[in-house]
Amino acid sequence: MLGISENATQDEIKSAYRRLARENHPDVNPNNPEAEEKFKEIGEAYATLSDPDKRRQYDQKPEENFSFGGFNSFFRTEMPNSPVVIQVEMTMDELLRETKKNISYQRVFNCSSCKGEQCPECRGSGVKITTQKFDNFHFYSQQSSCQRCFGRGEIRDQNCHQCHGKGKYLQNDSIEVVIPVGSALKALIIEGMGSRESQNQPPGPLILEIMPKISEQFAFAGNYNLLYNYDIDPVRAMLGGEISVPTPEGDMININLKPGVQHGHAEEIKGYGLPISVQDRGSIYVKFNYVAPNKLSDQQKASLQQYLDLSENKNKREGKQL
Ligand SMILES: [Zn+2]
Ligand SMILES: [Zn+2]
Repeated sequence: MLGISENATQDEIKSAYRRLARENHPDVNPNNPEAEEKFKEIGEAYATLSDPDKRRQYDQKPEENFSFGGFNSFFRTEMPNSPVVIQVEMTMDELLRETKKNISYQRVFNCSSCKGEQCPECRGSGVKITTQKFDNFHFYSQQSSCQRCFGRGEIRDQNCHQCHGKGKYLQNDSIEVVIPVGSALKALIIEGMGSRESQNQPPGPLILEIMPKISEQFAFAGNYNLLYNYDIDPVRAMLGGEISVPTPEGDMININLKPGVQHGHAEEIKGYGLPISVQDRGSIYVKFNYVAPNKLSDQQKASLQQYLDLSENKNKREGKQL
């Protein structure tokens, strides 16, 4: 279900789950029952695999869990509620200190204003099984989501003011969270603040993905590091000296370049990347791209010609080409 190997670590499970949950989240796929169903199953698979006891059970009898009837019946009794995944944008200033944020979001609740009746079509299982005769001795069965109740297993009153027959409704919510330093590019999981489609299970988690708000001139370079592309005059690269580089906070810092910086070289500036902890920050990698000026004054040409004559003479003396 999560597209991971049998020996996946908890971290791999978590990241596979987060990706799939995001892709199939009902907010992203409105009115798409298939995505909704998949989203549920992903949550179920995650809950199973992230619980060591259930994982053992699952690892021991994988064919039973996925064989006909097994998959659904195994999960239906254990169905956990869905997580809500929210992306939280944070400025560099906010990321550099512990920041309180008020997060508004929507979560799904089971409707308590109307009472569900067991679906007569599937008798509450949400699944429809059709058995057909193959020959005199063999039958085959097919399983699909019940069309009458859309796999919910129950029928609700279409006139319910709260859920309009869906059995669940979206509710606006907000929560104040303290986001610790070093949360950039991580996800904070707040248990119990996600959706609660099923009354019998605790609510799912609220997952906050912390997205640093950094100007577009930077690219993420992994591990709290940022990449900055610097177009440099090849003569400046040859001579070295002081150059200015922006920081993610919007300031400028001066760095002293050694003479002879090559095209494509990335110079590491420590301590100016994303915050790792209160004391620590990642690096900015300044990557140099040679950009030759295409218009030169006569004076510039004369100087460069002089440079060229000198270096060609020098190379000749030393028996080098270039
Ligand atoms: Zn209702
Ligand atoms: Zn049904």
